[in-house]
Amino acid sequence: METQNLYPHRCSKCNAQMFSPVVCQSCQTLFDIERDVDYFTMFGFERKFDIDSEELEKRFIELSRLVHPDFHSNDVDNVMMLSMQITSELNQAYETLSDPIKRAEYLLALSGGPDAEKDKSTPEELLPYILHLRESFEFAQAQDDKAKTDEIRQSIKVLKEQTEQRIFQLARELNSPSNDNSLRSELRKQLNAIRYINNLARFVNV
Ligand SMILES: [Zn+2]
Repeated sequence: METQNLYPHRCSKCNAQMFSPVVCQSCQTLFDIERDVDYFTMFGFERKFDIDSEELEKRFIELSRLVHPDFHSNDVDNVMMLSMQITSELNQAYETLSDPIKRAEYLLALSGGPDAEKDKSTPEELLPYILHLRESFEFAQAQDDKAKTDEIRQSIKVLKEQTEQRIFQLARELNSPSNDNSLRSELRKQLNAIRYINNLARFVNV
């Protein structure tokens, strides 16, 4: 990805083009971003699911360096405070955007979709299927049936991959102007599903 300036603003101190609203890469001035800046904008990205992960990492490293408290140790106290505050926001933003599931969850929240506390629904038949897989696995393990435990692990792997692909597909569609409540509900459901599936995957060491 070319270094595009999706954050179309110039530094109010030195007038350089900025790629992130948190810091000017030319004069290193830090900016208080308590106003409504989403994680995508912090890194100069468009608000959409597909992002260039190498570019994300590159920008994270560069911004972290420019914002780092050591870099501002000779500045006045409130700048030091701001530096620590932005560093923590950057870390949180990077942690969210670098994980595609967390990124999908974040996009859903930005689009006004329900959070996991409000809407705990899961796809039909998922929970009975998970219970079935778990019980079959425990049974096969008790029998020392390695072929069977391998087979169940494989089924869980497939279920996990399919659910992830479904989440990514839905998260991509969140951009389209036609996105509606049923799409957000479906994404919520699949994001709830992946938690159960990941728990099961951990249980069987997939
Ligand atoms: Zn500047």
